[in-house]
Amino acid sequence: MKLAERTSRIASSPTMKVTATVDRLRRSGVEVIDFGAGEPDFSTPDPIKGAAHHALDENFTRYTPVPGIADLRKAICERYKADYGVEYAENEVIVTAGGKQALYNTALALFGPGDEVITHAPYWPTLTEQVKLADATPVLARTHAEDGFAVRARAILDLVTPRTRGIIINSPCNPTGALVSEGDLADIADAAARQGIWIVVDLCYEKLIYERVPHNLPKVLAGRCRDLTVLCGSASKAYAMTGWRCGWQLGPAAVIAASGAIQSHSTSNVTSITQKAAVEAIHGSQAPVRVMLDEYRKRRDLLHEWITADARLRCLKPAGAFYMFVDVGEALSIDGIRTSLDFADALLDEARVAVTPGEAFDAPGFIRISYATSTEHLREGSRRLLEFVAQHAPQPAVHGSVRP
Ligand code: PMP
Repeated sequence: MKLAERTSRIASSPTMKVTATVDRLRRSGVEVIDFGAGEPDFSTPDPIKGAAHHALDENFTRYTPVPGIADLRKAICERYKADYGVEYAENEVIVTAGGKQALYNTALALFGPGDEVITHAPYWPTLTEQVKLADATPVLARTHAEDGFAVRARAILDLVTPRTRGIIINSPCNPTGALVSEGDLADIADAAARQGIWIVVDLCYEKLIYERVPHNLPKVLAGRCRDLTVLCGSASKAYAMTGWRCGWQLGPAAVIAASGAIQSHSTSNVTSITQKAAVEAIHGSQAPVRVMLDEYRKRRDLLHEWITADARLRCLKPAGAFYMFVDVGEALSIDGIRTSLDFADALLDEARVAVTPGEAFDAPGFIRISYATSTEHLREGSRRLLEFVAQHAPQPAVHGSVRP
């Protein structure tokens, strides 16, 4: 069977593969602790669901304008103004089917054959696959565990060539939870402005930052390269709305118009009912976001304490998102479990704990644990993980003695 050439350039989502395996095991009656899921375990808050019920009862079930209903576009602009002090007009925002479509519209609208697009690794695989779908080439700046996976301006800017068309920044980052500093982003933005390079920021986890740290990325960019900036956001993680499919793109009117044209010939408007629910999410009380954030913070702290009880599992406390990115290098061995992919497979087989191997994020040697799950699951999953490591990993070196 001859498929289009572009299908050979991309791989299906490895993170979604873990979810599918867990699903299959559970359907066959196997009890699994799922640390793979990249989505909140919370239910969508009641007021948001109420707005959807209301939309249905009012028969708000027809096509809407492709870029979204005016109320929702206004609510998004007002939220960014309130949160970041940046101004966007109605023709500078489009509502999309999740952050994923916001990023995809952006890639298709901005990048093409011969273009290079820089992003940072470890990365969420969709970012690079979308660049490839746009016929452009992803270029990777490595971030490092020893440096807290910080995205450094130097590392990004060293990769700029005359072919560089865009830079994609994901902060908070999936899978590392790291944030880009305002200073590094400012340096990147200044260089981008000088060289006419697009800056795309994936703000999918913007509401999930645990400590009060400066992270006003929209403002940093608005002051330096507003005409070259596209912000991609999402209701999925902040409001526990992954299944509703609602995201947005904010950027120059020409980019939004081009994205609207692309969307008008592919998916059209986001589900009408979802849009009404999203107005409530974004415009209504933000208290549920704070409640969820507080809970994630507690889980993060507990999980970190439990896991680091074994020195062979090394990880930092992430600053944002809900993932712990754990270095399992010291738990691997040439004659046993050799890679983090083997590690994740064996952990699922033997201990019934699902994690995502670092290979999915171009970071072999690591596993990603999602703590968007109950404390009980985190406790039991950590217990099984530590037991698994104790059984399989080489013994840690102990000062002054050599273990048999
Ligand atoms: N960006 C990142 C970094 C993500 O991890 C995800 C979802 N896993 C998204 C964007 C898109 O999410 P959604 O399409 O549900 O808004």
